[in-house]
Amino acid sequence: SYTSEPMRQMGVLNPGGKLPLGLKRKPLRVLVTGGAGFVGSHLVDRLIERGDSLIVLDNFFTGRKSNVKHHLGNPQFELIRHDVVEPILLEVDHIYHLACPASPVHYNEVYGDPLEHPQSESYWGHVNPIGVRSCYDEGKRTAETLTMDYHRGANVEVRIARIFNTYGPRMCIDDGRVVSNFVAQALRRQPLTVYGDGKQTRSFQYVSDLVEGLIRLMESEHIGPFNLGNPGEFTMLDLANVVKEVIDPQAKIQFKENTEDDPHKRKPDITKAKNLLHWEPKVPLKEGLPLMVEDFRRRILEDPMGSQL
Ligand code: UDP
Repeated sequence: SYTSEPMRQMGVLNPGGKLPLGLKRKPLRVLVTGGAGFVGSHLVDRLIERGDSLIVLDNFFTGRKSNVKHHLGNPQFELIRHDVVEPILLEVDHIYHLACPASPVHYNEVYGDPLEHPQSESYWGHVNPIGVRSCYDEGKRTAETLTMDYHRGANVEVRIARIFNTYGPRMCIDDGRVVSNFVAQALRRQPLTVYGDGKQTRSFQYVSDLVEGLIRLMESEHIGPFNLGNPGEFTMLDLANVVKEVIDPQAKIQFKENTEDDPHKRKPDITKAKNLLHWEPKVPLKEGLPLMVEDFRRRILEDPMGSQL
C-alpha cells in the first residue's frame, strides 16, 4: 500500500514498514471530490487532523475556498480546481466522492417519497420518474447502479453511503435548505418560511456524525449501502420552534406553498450501520443547531449582502 510523501520525507517510516512509536496507523493519501464543500471540508479537517494527506478536487460550483483556507500552505493538503465530470489521474488510497450540488433545486435522496417508514436499505424506494424532484433521486440511484457494476464487473473496491439531511457550520446560507433557511431568516429578523402545512417530517444529522460514519464505512469491510442519518424525526413546525428557541423566540412563521412531490416523511432506519459499523449519531438537534448558528451569525455579519455566501 501507499506511504504518504511527507512521512517518507521525514523518514519516520522504517524500511520494514513498521509505524513509528505513537502512530497507530499508516497515514493515507485521500482524495475528496467536493472537498471545499459543506460535508467535504469537514471530512478533510478530520482526516488531516489524524495525519492523512489530502487532495481536494472542487470546481467551486457550490464549494468555497474559505472552507479549506486554513489548510493552505500545509504540506499535507493540495487543492485542485477541477470539474469531476472531466477525467483526471491521481494516485490515492481512498476516494470520497462528495462532489454534488445538493441544494433543494437539486432535490432529494434515493428513496423518493417513501411508502415504507422509516426507510431501511432494503427498501427500493418510490420515485416518480417524471416528477420535478426525480432528477436528484434518479441520479443517486444510477450512481449506485454504476458503482455496483464497476465493483462486480471490474473488481473495483467500493462503498455506498445514503446520506440523510445534514446540517452544520459552512452550509451554504442561501441555497434554500430548510435548516439553513430558518437559521438565516431568524438571524436576519425575517419570518421563517414553512412550506405546506409544516407537518412533513425530516431527520436532521449534525455534520460531525456524518463524517464519523463516512470514515467508519470507508475503513470497514462492508460495501453498503448504509443509511447515514439521525433517526430523530421532526416536523418542519417542530424545527421552526427549535430555531425560534435558539435564536429568537419572537420570530414569526410564514406559510408558503410546498413544491410538488415533496416527500411527506423521511427517517433513516440505521440498524444496519449500528450493527455492522458500530456507528450512530451522537449530536442531538438542540446541541448541533447552536454550533451552526454561531457560524451563520459570523458569516452574515461579515457579509450582510450575501455576495460571498
Ligand atoms: N422547507 C420549508 N421551508 C423552507 C425550505 C424547505 O418548510 O424554507 C421544507 C421542504 O418543503 C421540505 C423540508 O423542508 O419538506 C426539507 O427540505 P430541504 O430542501 O431542506 O431538504 P429535502 O427536501 O431534500 O429533504
